[in-house]
Amino acid sequence: MIPFQPLANTYGTPLYVYDFDAMQSQYHELKEAFRGRKSILAYAVKANSNLSVIKHFASLGAGADCVSIGEVRRALLAGVPPYKILFSGVGKRDEEIREAMISDILYINVESEAELGRVEMIAKELGKVARISIRVNPNIDPQTHPYISTGLHDNKFGVDLETAKRMYIRSKHATALEAVGIHFHIGSQLTQLEPIYEAAVIVADLMRSLSAIDVNLKFFDIGGGVGVCYNDEVTITPYDYAQAILGALKGLDVTIISEPGRFLTANAGYFLTKVLYEKRNGEKRFVVVDGAMNDLLRPSLYKAYHRIEALDKVGEESVADIVGPVCESGDFLAKATLLPMMEHNDLLVVHSAGAYGFGMGSNYNTRGRSAEIAYQKGEARMIRARETFEDLIALEREYL
Ligand SMILES: *Cc1c(COP(=O)(O)O)cnc(C)c1O
Repeated sequence: MIPFQPLANTYGTPLYVYDFDAMQSQYHELKEAFRGRKSILAYAVKANSNLSVIKHFASLGAGADCVSIGEVRRALLAGVPPYKILFSGVGKRDEEIREAMISDILYINVESEAELGRVEMIAKELGKVARISIRVNPNIDPQTHPYISTGLHDNKFGVDLETAKRMYIRSKHATALEAVGIHFHIGSQLTQLEPIYEAAVIVADLMRSLSAIDVNLKFFDIGGGVGVCYNDEVTITPYDYAQAILGALKGLDVTIISEPGRFLTANAGYFLTKVLYEKRNGEKRFVVVDGAMNDLLRPSLYKAYHRIEALDKVGEESVADIVGPVCESGDFLAKATLLPMMEHNDLLVVHSAGAYGFGMGSNYNTRGRSAEIAYQKGEARMIRARETFEDLIALEREYL
């Protein structure tokens, strides 16, 4: 049990706390599911990009899936070996492509023909051969929230099968390109196996037909997206997930790359916030807390549900909205939730906040971002200091 109250007293609120032991067991569970197969778990850095979190996964053997050169730099700084780093994303700048190539990462996930052209050009300039993988958009509805669905032609990600095939043939004839993998990622917070299986079958078939024309790929990159339980969702188990992928591969000899983000971190993270006041507008009850949408955006952005626990509080519960101090009606952590009567300084623990929490934070309303704490083997340590007012104005001050 994590000592939330002492941590809040020591480090102040709002505060992110990450259970590093829980992250480790998630990593092992997924890795174990692919036992006996060549596989790399490339942690999707955007889920929680704290350097110490990346370093923790790197120490377990993880690679890193990055969606900007900033994330590539984080991964390298945290000790992920370049040969386990991938660079994905629909819009890479030339400088990003160049730096990724110079860093000698495993491969670049290319998401359009135009991008392939830029990658080839830059490889030639550098006198290098660019290792690439192509992100296929299999046009599968992943049945998740539309904002986190990525595998439909309606979404901006990847290329259709025909285009992918053309791009592989082009790469085969280009001396500065070496196609080493194939990639798909159909969405996030997937709770059903069927869409993943269908996508994997489509992509594995493409891989087989490519091998018939002598395009032989080593890496089968299945993206991330495995859902977690926020409330009472029944989700995918790592074992079933791995079995579905292996079923689609039907004995193809490949190295499986997976890019889990949420699965590794979501339920290992907690967001601590203190009650400022209780208030009522007519019949409506609000609990105003010191954490806000700039700290944890998911409720505002996706109407995401997070379980919120009133620590050490008993008493009759009634319906309330839990809202932050930011000047937006969309600033809430929970709507119509049940809570006992709260008092100034009571602590609320927001569960499942380890993925897409801190990283989506901002300084809106000139609020400094929270500190981040790692909790491991019964010990807490700070892994990011709370932002100060000075930090917030540092890049403006000299122009005043
Ligand atoms: C966001 C993302 C992931 C991670 O998704 P999760 O749902 O957090 O597992 C993996 N791969 C790519 C390409 C992504 O964009």
